[in-house]
Amino acid sequence: MKGERLSIPKYAMALAHVASLRSEDPYRKVGAAALDFDNRVIGTAYNGLAPGYNPPPGFWDDRESRQKFMLHAEINLCSLFRRGEAKIIATTTMPCTACMQTLCAYGVKEIYYRDVYHLSDAPEIAALYQIKFERIIDYPGASIELGASANYEAH
Ligand SMILES: [Zn+2]
Repeated sequence: MKGERLSIPKYAMALAHVASLRSEDPYRKVGAAALDFDNRVIGTAYNGLAPGYNPPPGFWDDRESRQKFMLHAEINLCSLFRRGEAKIIATTTMPCTACMQTLCAYGVKEIYYRDVYHLSDAPEIAALYQIKFERIIDYPGASIELGASANYEAH
């Protein structure tokens, strides 16, 4: 690696990882980054509750009941650009089926993920629409973690 230049996909994943550290979800912290067709960063996002909502005490106690309220990182990311503007998306967890469909609708060409999410139809959707879909696990800062947050079960 020494002397090599950081690849664009790894660059995007490192940004997604840093964004994930901002997630307020105690169960699964997901970060995502979007790059445009010139490889410039459009923005980053993470999963969480709608802007301005402050959860009452106990809100996070029941993972099942709070799950429907979580806005996924990819959806928050898509609020930062318009269709056709983003070429590359990196996300720390494979997009769920709904997020993958949304990314398709936004015309994203390349999607990189780190953690596998077995319940997702994303691989099949990517294949059908000929979207580049690759896993990246080695990138700068991959070992950075805040607190006891790493929980790689299905979200
Ligand atoms: Zn999702």
